[in-house]
Amino acid sequence: MSKENFEFKAEISQLLEILVHSLYTNREIFLRELISNASDALEKRRFEQTKNDNQNDQTPFEMKISVDKENKTLTIVDTGIGMTEDEVKENIGTIAHSGTANFAKQLAEGKESVDSIIGRFGVGFYSIFMVADSAELITRSFRDGSKALSWTSDGKSGYEIEEIKEETPFGTKIVVHLKEEFVDQFTNENTIKEIITKHSNFINAPIFVGDTQVNTVSALWREPKFKITKEQYNEFYSFLTYDTEAPLDVLHFSIDAPVQFQSLLFIPEKEHGMFGMDRDNWGQDLYVRRILIEHNCKNLLPEYLSFCKGVVDTEDLPLNISRETLQDNLLLRKISISLTKQVLSHLEKMAKENGDEFKKFWSEHSRVFKTGYMDFLNKDKFANLVRFNSMQSADAEDLVSFAMYQDKVKDTFGADATKEIYYFYAPSREAALLSPYVEIFQQKGIEVLFLYEPIDEFIMEAVREFDGWKLSSIEHADLSTLENLSNVEDFEAPKVEELNVAEKASFDDMLATMKDYLGGQVAEVKISHRLTGAACCLSNPDGTLSSSMERVMRTIQKDSGIPQKVLELNPNHTLLRNMLALYQKDSKDSFIEQGTKQLFESALLLEGYLQDPHGLVGRMNDLLTQSSTWYLQTK
Ligand code: ADP
Repeated sequence: MSKENFEFKAEISQLLEILVHSLYTNREIFLRELISNASDALEKRRFEQTKNDNQNDQTPFEMKISVDKENKTLTIVDTGIGMTEDEVKENIGTIAHSGTANFAKQLAEGKESVDSIIGRFGVGFYSIFMVADSAELITRSFRDGSKALSWTSDGKSGYEIEEIKEETPFGTKIVVHLKEEFVDQFTNENTIKEIITKHSNFINAPIFVGDTQVNTVSALWREPKFKITKEQYNEFYSFLTYDTEAPLDVLHFSIDAPVQFQSLLFIPEKEHGMFGMDRDNWGQDLYVRRILIEHNCKNLLPEYLSFCKGVVDTEDLPLNISRETLQDNLLLRKISISLTKQVLSHLEKMAKENGDEFKKFWSEHSRVFKTGYMDFLNKDKFANLVRFNSMQSADAEDLVSFAMYQDKVKDTFGADATKEIYYFYAPSREAALLSPYVEIFQQKGIEVLFLYEPIDEFIMEAVREFDGWKLSSIEHADLSTLENLSNVEDFEAPKVEELNVAEKASFDDMLATMKDYLGGQVAEVKISHRLTGAACCLSNPDGTLSSSMERVMRTIQKDSGIPQKVLELNPNHTLLRNMLALYQKDSKDSFIEQGTKQLFESALLLEGYLQDPHGLVGRMNDLLTQSSTWYLQTK
């Protein structure tokens, strides 16, 4: 065969024209394309050799990249499958191939800009003409009896093919003749190494630059689990995340249905900046057959599982998929659904089998995890995993799940006593334990979950029910069912005399008077059935939100007024008994008004609603002055 000249087809000329003239700056990606082609060629040879059981050929599977500043060239040689004459014409001379064809199509349809396509997905072999004046490809097919060929082109009009007579090893060698302005950059070995590490680090075959193998970290996720040591996992993790600490946990799975993918995820020991400056820097790395498609891909796991760092690799996606279409890619959606379930199941297993580890996980990552209350698809799993401090916990660190709550209640009251899970929001454990609302629960020995963060209430609103049990804020608890339950053994009820009929009537009158003193500030003043120690508390008129939820809503709506509440009074409290006695003597005694306002404003203060403390403080000082005078007289 003598020299043959071929003209480029119209679409290739067009493509080359665009490539050469685009202002695209990140031209280094041509190397990624060449490496990826060489890697495919090596895989094909491996397949061929295995198929034919050809053990004779000892040629190593590898690629070598060398640079020559003087001659202004970069050369890549692989020991892959090589190409026959027909294959060269077919593969290199036409545009039938996935990447290039896609590229041209999307450009033609005006869906993508040149730069964004080149940057993200490369355009295959022809991307070399972004940096090259001309290129030479020498190839000989691995198959017996194949001739060696040389293909050359200036990337403008067409190409030449010529047979090579000298002995040529099988495989492919590509010599890139660099344009003047790219010589310095791409004949620098260190730069080349950096580019390889960035884009092609997990290519299976060794990549040599000079005598050094650059890609030394293997694609660990592709290896069978039982072969991997803990040290290897840790090493890989620190390579991936630059975290100096070992990960808390490793999740390594290989899924075949409904989609094929492999995933290696790590849960870091420490929560790293999810709430700091680095807020947006999350996601997992998406690979397609070991080639990085997207770093920090946000379509693999929902944000609430963003504490998982790692890699997902699938055989099923085309290499040239565009990132915009990744978002609505059905296959990726399936991977995401499956991966999310895997992670949640893993956490459930951890919670069950390794409580200490789960505790660590929760203390580090629960802030992010809790934002998952909107994942309705996995509501049950989510509900299994959330933890709360509770009234009966030993301390603030002691946490319970919904299921643990149920077990406790069933143990104490039998299986059918109540089917409610009670919760209460307070700024801290101390505040919760002192709150008048929890008194009756302490008295009856019914567990209450304590919520300390606004998001906890959103969780309750979203979950609503757990295993048939309703989640109820204790502010809305149906007290009539609770009252019938017996008190805990060591509960000491304050000893008070029952009110007689006349006293009861006066008490009701006093309540009406108190309501008058408070006017429209309260919806109602009534006797409380929930209080034992405290004198009073505020509750919401029936059917409205819990107070803390209401506060959240009001903050959102920038409403700073005081909502109308019900003032509940404890008729057995000494203060109320004294007020009643005074009231019976003189219903207009000024202390009744003073006491009423003081009780109401203290309750507002406790609930976080009191805006102007002057009245409260002034009254308190008056009362202290009076009482100290009386006290002094007794000394
Ligand atoms: P793509 O890789 O998306 O198919 P390319 O333009 O990069 O597009 O490559 C076109 C084809 O040329 C490849 O599919 C492959 O068949 C062939 N090819 C490219 N480089 C090599 C190589 N180093 N060894 C063997 N075949 C190659």
